[in-house]
Amino acid sequence: MNPTVKAFSVGFIYPLGSKKFQIFMLPVDLKKADPRTLQIEWDDGHVSRYPLEFLRRQCPCASCSEARHTPAKPANPLRVLQAHEIIGADLDIKQAEVVGRYALNFQWSDGHAEGIYTFDFLRSICQCEECTMQKVGKI
Ligand SMILES: [Zn+2]
Ligand SMILES: [Zn+2]
Repeated sequence: MNPTVKAFSVGFIYPLGSKKFQIFMLPVDLKKADPRTLQIEWDDGHVSRYPLEFLRRQCPCASCSEARHTPAKPANPLRVLQAHEIIGADLDIKQAEVVGRYALNFQWSDGHAEGIYTFDFLRSICQCEECTMQKVGKI
Protein backbone atom coordinates (compact mmCIF):
# COMPACT_ATOMS: atom_id res chain seq x y z
CA MET A 1 0.00 0.00 0.00
CA ASN A 2 1.31 3.35 -0.94
CA PRO A 3 1.01 5.62 2.09
CA THR A 4 1.32 8.76 0.04
CA VAL A 5 -1.63 11.06 0.42
CA LYS A 6 -2.43 13.48 -2.27
CA ALA A 7 -2.19 16.86 -0.69
CA PHE A 8 -5.38 17.88 1.01
CA SER A 9 -7.58 15.29 -0.45
CA VAL A 10 -10.47 15.13 1.91
CA GLY A 11 -10.82 11.85 3.65
CA PHE A 12 -8.98 9.43 5.82
CA ILE A 13 -5.27 9.25 5.63
CA TYR A 14 -5.22 6.18 7.85
CA PRO A 15 -6.62 2.75 7.72
CA LEU A 16 -9.14 3.26 10.46
CA GLY A 17 -9.03 -0.36 11.57
CA SER A 18 -5.62 0.23 13.11
CA LYS A 19 -6.85 3.12 15.21
CA LYS A 20 -7.30 1.34 18.49
CA PHE A 21 -3.69 0.20 18.45
CA GLN A 22 -2.38 3.71 18.25
CA ILE A 23 -1.09 5.54 21.27
CA PHE A 24 -0.95 8.84 19.51
CA MET A 25 -3.70 11.19 18.62
CA LEU A 26 -4.39 10.61 14.97
CA PRO A 27 -5.34 13.03 12.27
CA VAL A 28 -8.40 11.78 10.45
CA ASP A 29 -8.65 14.61 7.97
CA LEU A 30 -6.17 16.96 6.42
CA LYS A 31 -7.10 19.84 4.20
CA LYS A 32 -6.69 23.49 3.49
CA ALA A 33 -9.05 25.60 5.55
CA ASP A 34 -8.11 28.43 3.20
CA PRO A 35 -5.15 29.03 0.87
CA ARG A 36 -2.96 30.11 3.79
CA THR A 37 -4.08 27.64 6.41
CA LEU A 38 -3.74 23.92 6.92
CA GLN A 39 -6.47 22.27 8.89
CA ILE A 40 -6.09 18.98 10.69
CA GLU A 41 -8.99 17.21 12.26
CA TRP A 42 -8.04 14.77 14.99
CA ASP A 43 -9.72 11.55 15.92
CA ASP A 44 -10.94 13.07 19.18
CA GLY A 45 -12.87 15.65 17.18
CA HIS A 46 -10.42 18.47 17.83
CA VAL A 47 -9.68 20.71 14.87
CA SER A 48 -6.34 22.46 14.53
CA ARG A 49 -5.60 25.20 12.07
CA TYR A 50 -2.05 26.14 11.22
CA PRO A 51 -1.03 29.15 9.20
CA LEU A 52 1.35 27.78 6.58
CA GLU A 53 4.16 30.21 7.45
CA PHE A 54 3.91 29.18 11.06
CA LEU A 55 4.07 25.51 10.18
CA ARG A 56 7.02 26.08 7.88
CA ARG A 57 8.88 27.96 10.61
CA GLN A 58 8.23 25.16 13.06
CA CYS A 59 9.95 22.67 10.76
CA PRO A 60 11.57 20.17 13.12
CA CYS A 61 14.39 19.08 10.80
CA ALA A 62 17.96 19.49 11.95
CA SER A 63 18.91 22.42 9.76
CA CYS A 64 15.78 24.42 10.56
CA SER A 65 16.01 23.89 14.31
CA GLU A 66 19.65 24.86 14.18
CA ALA A 67 18.77 28.01 12.27
CA ARG A 68 16.08 28.85 14.81
CA HIS A 69 18.39 28.41 17.75
CA THR A 70 21.26 30.35 16.33
CA PRO A 71 21.14 33.88 17.73
CA ALA A 72 20.55 36.53 15.12
CA LYS A 73 23.79 37.99 13.88
CA PRO A 74 24.29 41.73 13.52
CA ALA A 75 22.55 42.91 10.41
CA ASN A 76 24.69 42.62 7.34
CA PRO A 77 22.94 43.68 4.17
CA LEU A 78 25.20 41.50 2.10
CA ARG A 79 24.68 38.27 3.91
CA VAL A 80 22.82 35.46 2.26
CA LEU A 81 19.34 34.98 3.60
CA GLN A 82 18.71 31.68 5.25
CA ALA A 83 15.90 29.50 4.02
CA HIS A 84 13.81 30.11 7.12
CA GLU A 85 14.02 33.86 6.60
CA ILE A 86 12.72 33.93 3.08
CA ILE A 87 9.36 32.38 3.59
CA GLY A 88 7.33 34.03 0.92
CA ALA A 89 3.69 34.90 0.66
CA ASP A 90 3.33 32.23 -1.97
CA LEU A 91 4.42 29.50 0.42
CA ASP A 92 2.39 26.39 -0.06
CA ILE A 93 2.38 22.71 0.72
CA LYS A 94 2.75 20.68 -2.42
CA GLN A 95 2.26 17.33 -0.84
CA ALA A 96 1.64 15.78 2.53
CA GLU A 97 2.74 12.26 3.21
CA VAL A 98 2.29 9.95 6.16
CA VAL A 99 5.57 8.82 7.65
CA GLY A 100 5.34 5.50 9.40
CA ARG A 101 2.24 5.78 11.53
CA TYR A 102 3.27 8.64 13.64
CA ALA A 103 4.11 11.65 11.55
CA LEU A 104 3.48 13.79 8.51
CA ASN A 105 6.03 15.01 6.05
CA PHE A 106 5.28 18.14 4.09
CA GLN A 107 6.76 19.05 0.77
CA TRP A 108 6.91 22.80 0.72
CA SER A 109 6.73 24.92 -2.37
CA ASP A 110 10.18 26.33 -1.49
CA GLY A 111 11.63 22.88 -2.08
CA HIS A 112 12.12 21.99 1.56
CA ALA A 113 10.88 18.54 2.50
CA GLU A 114 13.10 17.38 5.34
CA GLY A 115 10.76 18.06 8.23
CA ILE A 116 9.03 15.14 9.94
CA TYR A 117 6.14 16.57 11.92
CA THR A 118 5.03 13.97 14.43
CA PHE A 119 1.36 13.94 15.33
CA ASP A 120 2.32 14.70 18.92
CA PHE A 121 4.29 17.71 17.82
CA LEU A 122 1.55 18.97 15.53
CA ARG A 123 -0.99 18.63 18.25
CA SER A 124 1.28 20.40 20.72
CA ILE A 125 1.62 23.44 18.45
CA CYS A 126 -2.12 23.70 17.86
CA GLN A 127 -2.97 27.36 17.60
CA CYS A 128 -6.57 27.23 18.75
CA GLU A 129 -7.70 29.24 21.73
CA GLU A 130 -8.33 26.19 23.87
CA CYS A 131 -4.85 24.75 23.38
CA THR A 132 -3.18 28.13 23.73
CA MET A 133 -4.95 28.71 27.03
CA GLN A 134 -3.93 25.28 28.26
CA LYS A 135 -0.33 25.98 27.39
CA VAL A 136 -0.20 29.15 29.44
CA GLY A 137 -1.97 27.38 32.27
CA LYS A 138 -5.16 29.38 32.25
CA ILE A 139 -7.38 26.32 32.24
ZN1 LIG B 1 13.41 22.01 7.96
ZN1 LIG C 1 -6.28 23.09 19.69
